[in-house]
Amino acid sequence: MRLLLFGPPGVGKGTQAKLLSQEFGVPHISTGDMLRASVADGTKFGEKAKAIMDAGQLVPDDIMVGIVRDVLGSPSVNKGFILDGFPRTIEQAKALTNILNNLHISDYNVVNLDVDDEAIVRRLTKRLMCLDDGKIYNSEIDGVTAGSPCPACGGRLVLRDDDKEETVRKRLSVYHSTTAPVLRYYQSQGRVMSVDGSGDIDEVYQKIKEMVGT
Ligand code: AMP
Repeated sequence: MRLLLFGPPGVGKGTQAKLLSQEFGVPHISTGDMLRASVADGTKFGEKAKAIMDAGQLVPDDIMVGIVRDVLGSPSVNKGFILDGFPRTIEQAKALTNILNNLHISDYNVVNLDVDDEAIVRRLTKRLMCLDDGKIYNSEIDGVTAGSPCPACGGRLVLRDDDKEETVRKRLSVYHSTTAPVLRYYQSQGRVMSVDGSGDIDEVYQKIKEMVGT
């Protein structure tokens, strides 16, 4: 299984990628998670990345391409991969094409998760993340609040700085101007399968599996 999960921020790429990764035993490569790990480690790079992420902007292409090139070059991806949150620009998409060509990988697909902007804003501003295990909750559905303990591990649940409404709207505008053209790039290669991402987690998961023929 080699998949690129595509769609606006908050559409559920991370959640679906984790499920696919567990069921099919292939690594979930999330560039957002990698950046958040650098932020949590308190590195100089992490500090810079946090400022960019909190502003709803994109981390420069050369940095992101370097990170993904290293991961895709490692033996952990021999059986496949689920790429989540990359590529987000045409430059990144072209770089990824080169990386995969060099690895002689040509069979991969793009799953595009589709949800309208207002639904995204409602979802993200209610999304809480555990600071310890990274699990995601919805304050309405799961009955948790910011600051309450994670039901799974007891860690603290927080609203991500980049999930504040103003930043979510900025991220959506960056998505439409910079990331949506990446979809057209892959559509022209006949790789895109679109899935309605507005249902519940399991419904969307089943639709993705049908699409990719598993
Ligand atoms: P995500 O968790 O995928 O929504 O990513 C959170 C934030 O990390 C994004 O809003 C960007 O600031 C940054 N980021 C993640 N992936 C990329 C990427 N491929 N290119 C540039 N910035 C990224």
